Amino acid sequence: MGGWNIWFALINFAILAFFLVKFGKKIVIGMIEGNRQKISRELDEAKAAGENARHITQTLEDMDAENQRQCQDILDQARERSKRSIERSAQESRDLADSRIKEAEHDMLSIKQQTLTELRNENTGALLTETEQLLKSEKYTQKRSEMPQRFVAQLEQMLELTDSDRAKLRWGEKLSAKLSAAQAVDQALLERIGKLLGDKTQGKFSLETEIRPELIGGLRFQLEDTVYDGSLEFMLRRVGEELEADDSPKEDIAVYFRNKFAEASTKPGCFQTGVVESLADGICRIVGLSDVMAGEMVRFEGGLQGMVMDIEKNRVSAVLLGNYENIHEGAQVRRTGKVMEVPVGEGLIGRVLDGLGRPVDGRGPLQATDTRPVESPAPGIIARKPVSVPLHTGIKAIDALVPIGRGQRELIIGDRKTGKTSIAVDTIINQKDKDVICIYVAIGQKESTVAGIAAKLRELGAMDYSIIICAKASDPAPMLYIAPYTGAAMGEYLMYKGRHVLIVYDDLSHHAVAYRELSLLLHRPPGREAYPGDVFYLHSRLLERAACLNDENGGGSMTALPIVETQAGDISAYIPTNVISITDGQIFLEESLFNSGVRPAINAGLSVSRVGGDAQPKAMKQFASRLRMDLAQYRELESFSQFGSDLDKATRDALNRGRKLTELLKQKRFDPRTVAEEVVAIYAANEGFMDDLETGQVPEFERRLTAYAYENAAQLCAVIDGGKKLDKDQIAHLRQVIENFKKDFRP
Ligand code: ATP
Ligand code: MG
Repeated sequence: MGGWNIWFALINFAILAFFLVKFGKKIVIGMIEGNRQKISRELDEAKAAGENARHITQTLEDMDAENQRQCQDILDQARERSKRSIERSAQESRDLADSRIKEAEHDMLSIKQQTLTELRNENTGALLTETEQLLKSEKYTQKRSEMPQRFVAQLEQMLELTDSDRAKLRWGEKLSAKLSAAQAVDQALLERIGKLLGDKTQGKFSLETEIRPELIGGLRFQLEDTVYDGSLEFMLRRVGEELEADDSPKEDIAVYFRNKFAEASTKPGCFQTGVVESLADGICRIVGLSDVMAGEMVRFEGGLQGMVMDIEKNRVSAVLLGNYENIHEGAQVRRTGKVMEVPVGEGLIGRVLDGLGRPVDGRGPLQATDTRPVESPAPGIIARKPVSVPLHTGIKAIDALVPIGRGQRELIIGDRKTGKTSIAVDTIINQKDKDVICIYVAIGQKESTVAGIAAKLRELGAMDYSIIICAKASDPAPMLYIAPYTGAAMGEYLMYKGRHVLIVYDDLSHHAVAYRELSLLLHRPPGREAYPGDVFYLHSRLLERAACLNDENGGGSMTALPIVETQAGDISAYIPTNVISITDGQIFLEESLFNSGVRPAINAGLSVSRVGGDAQPKAMKQFASRLRMDLAQYRELESFSQFGSDLDKATRDALNRGRKLTELLKQKRFDPRTVAEEVVAIYAANEGFMDDLETGQVPEFERRLTAYAYENAAQLCAVIDGGKKLDKDQIAHLRQVIENFKKDFRP
């Protein structure tokens, strides 16, 4: 029985062991598996963390590199900018130095030439007296005695009746002739002359003879007022005058003189003469000169010139162009056969001239290439084309509100001392490097004022492309009268050569007054405000000469900026209304604005430019109309808001905007702006970027903004300066630039 128990226990143990092993293994395996999974999960996580850490290190490194690159970029930019500014200032200094050197060279040349001229004049004088002595001497008796014979032979070829002689004959009058000789004349020669006269006049003549030893040798024959001069005295005088007028360099003056003299003695001079009858206030009445033309230049003894203004039956009135103290009653006047002419050409650039184009700046004789009549007809319609290229003045208010185009005539009008001249001078200064030649014609200005302008232009390098014509207040009225036409002739010459010219007439009120004086002295009937009836024609024929020529005619242009002075702002007086109706628009300067500090004192309401809009740079045109409207609104609200106290927000905003715009349009003298500078500033003001500034901060904001725009958006500025229109993207870019600037702007 005990054995069975053992077996039973053993079996039970075995079963227990079996189950233990079976289930225990499962549990243990499960446990081990769980642990292994956990470990591998943790391993994965650790790996991911490592990966992450590596990634972060990489990013940090990248950022570091990026930072370094940005630093480098900024450094590069800064270096580039400073290099550019250094280059720019170096260029400016170089330009300045160049212009100084040029000026110095010019001065040296002029001094040399002047000395040469003085030397030559002295030489000429000495040469003339010596020759005269020589010719009078015994040695030449034989030669002298041959001269009358030769002269009569030449006279037979030359003698012609003038129209006035023929008219006299037709009226049945006799022609009077006079023969002057140094010594007694041969009877045979007298008979030959008598026969010649008889043939020409059908016997209706009288001939008298006289002996005049001062003729030295040869004969002088006068038929009515035409003189045929074959005397040695005349030949000497003629050669002397020619020598004085001829500026070209000569090897040997004696040889040159001898050649000239030989040339002169081959042909007698033939000219019509007159005699001074009376002389007063720069007006001379002359008898004789029967075939003279209106506007013809006449020459008095001693070289003084006059211009024929009035022709009557037996008398001619001429204005004297210069000092007439040496002219006396009975003095001889000679026709020149030419209408009034002045020197023209590129050689005049840089010079200061008087009303007749003679230099007054002490820089020696002119290097003129040509001459041109002072009055010539204006180009016709066919030769012109519409104004299309802007004449940029550099003055914000003008370029935005009353733009001027090349070939336009824009009047600058205003009371005394309202900045009229300043606008014109600023415009001249702004033409630097723009291929425009400027002519400033001062009419009746003080000499000191003109000298100041000339000095300023020279200092700013503007004389390199400018000519100044100065008919000063102390000059006789005829000089003031002729000066603008002289300027116009010089401008016209360059215009027909395809150049662009800007001409300023400062001012036409003085011109009209000078013409009135002249006319009253000539006994022409006075009209409105005592001006003669043709005072409108005076200015219209002057201003019509400004034109924009079409390409067949060379494509040149002449822009005129006439200036007129008003009395107490009265633009309805005679001369202002005349010139307003002749020109293509006016810039009206107001005294009250000027005195309240708005300078330039442009009255935007009364100022217009009738053709300049077509020539305005496109970008400016895009934004300027808004400016004009805002300003107009401001002006209206301003007057009305002075009475009201409670204003709504819209009105307050409009007033605020107007104040900022007015401040923006103020501009100092000699401080021109480029197109881009103007456009950026005006766009910023239009878009309200200046609304929250103090009014006093506007100039600083403008200055810094425009500099910023040139630094940071050079390409955009170049587009604006090039006169192109801005598209949507470019406007957005402009806006972005201004926003960026404004973010950092601290006044
Ligand atoms: P006038 O009647 O004598 O010919 P005007 O009308 O030509 O005078 P300007 O001589 O140009 O006037 O200027 C008169 C004064 O105003 C000058 O002293 C000048 O310096 C000053 N002026 C002109 N424009 C400005 C300006 N934009 N800013 C400051 N001052 C100015
Ligand atoms: Mg002036």
